[in-house]
Amino acid sequence: MTADLTNPIFTDETKAREYLESVRWPDGPFCPHCGEAENVKRLHGKSHRPGLHQCNSCRQHFTVTVGTLYERSHIPLHKWLLATHLMASSKKGISAHQLHRMLGITYKSAWFMAHRIREAMKDENPGPLGGEGKVVEADETYIGPKRYRLKNGKGWKPIKGHSGKWKVLTLVERNGKARSVKIEKLNTATIWQVATRVADRKSTLITDELRMRLLGIAPWATTSPATARSTTPRASTPAAPSTPTRSRAISRSSNAACAASTSTAASSTYSAI
Ligand SMILES: [Zn+2]
Repeated sequence: MTADLTNPIFTDETKAREYLESVRWPDGPFCPHCGEAENVKRLHGKSHRPGLHQCNSCRQHFTVTVGTLYERSHIPLHKWLLATHLMASSKKGISAHQLHRMLGITYKSAWFMAHRIREAMKDENPGPLGGEGKVVEADETYIGPKRYRLKNGKGWKPIKGHSGKWKVLTLVERNGKARSVKIEKLNTATIWQVATRVADRKSTLITDELRMRLLGIAPWATTSPATARSTTPRASTPAAPSTPTRSRAISRSSNAACAASTSTAASSTYSAI
């Protein structure tokens, strides 16, 4: 789909249906109920709604929207296509209120559409990010409403910093997918747990603010924790201001194997630098 908002598929119901048919049925219509592709015919009668088909195998009726996220909706298909396009192409996302204003529908409908479209975008079986020779970048952010406190004689003043906000860690595979995870604490142990859960351990991790904490696991787990411990003694770790802090933080982690791997990999990374 191009980024041209003047495309008639976004304004004309027939064009929208034809477009969806061409995308979903490039080799001709098939029955979504039984899978029949040969014995299917389009119904042209005046009493039938446009785009209706009948399957002569299971005798059921269907249109192109059956079995898709656009099924059983009173919202016109061209508005669904526009909403899908806007949500898929907006770099910073789009709110239900914005859809409500742009599509000329109620906020309730816009909210429902946004949820259905997001649900359809969900990756059911997401594999790990990165892999051998690939780069995964990580960064954190704080989201949430601005908070205020009453200051003596000055009224309500916004609280500086990010206390009380939600912490979100995002890992992005370079030129690939991204995964965001809400975390409770932004410390090495949590970051390690999230990173090893969503990314392939053979990936190389690159960060900016978290560089000091995360360099220790880049490149990740090239050897098993036991081997790493024996081949790279911690005593040989070059002096780095943050190393003791990092090691202590990691040692507090419940996962002792991760801790050993992290602290020993740190030494090899620093010596490479
Ligand atoms: Zn059928």
